[in-house]
Amino acid sequence: MVKPILKLITVAKEVGVVTRKYPYESPLLTEEFRGKIEIDASICWGCGACVKACPSNALTIRESMDVMELVYFAGRCIFCGRCADVCPTGAIRVTKEFELATDELEDLEQVVIHRKVKCPICGKHFVPQPLEKYVCEKCAKGEIPTYMMVCPECRRKVGVKKMIRCKGG
Ligand code: SF4
Ligand code: SF4
Repeated sequence: MVKPILKLITVAKEVGVVTRKYPYESPLLTEEFRGKIEIDASICWGCGACVKACPSNALTIRESMDVMELVYFAGRCIFCGRCADVCPTGAIRVTKEFELATDELEDLEQVVIHRKVKCPICGKHFVPQPLEKYVCEKCAKGEIPTYMMVCPECRRKVGVKKMIRCKGG
């Protein structure tokens, strides 16, 4: 019993102090350290991939008829960085921020708002994806026929019908 303890003391002496007196000393933030995330609203598509990947429901979607909101609540975040891994546009950045104590819940929330457009065929409101956003902008200027503004589902149906027609069906 004495031998292992002596060995432990020797190792401890060799290694030295490995802990810090946080918060009296600054913490050791390594290159790999992960804190809360930040979402760049200007390049977020609203695709929802990050929401599906989030294991703790820190990312959720709030929907109404006109808008879709991507909501990040840092109070539930486990700082795993999975959302940043799956984001197709690189809109999510993992920061080194981890001191999040606050008495205002809103301080822990980031909301990215996506406006929906109305499909002229089925009337469903949907969040336009990048190509659709481009098309919608052009449509608004009257440069592209409005049928291009339809929701993905209706566009698929129109596409299938066209294919059948092309094949003489
Ligand atoms: S870092 Fe992990 S827990 Fe936090 S929002 Fe992203 S996926 Fe969810
Ligand atoms: S942050 Fe990335 S993964 Fe999440 S909705 Fe926006 S584009 Fe999609």
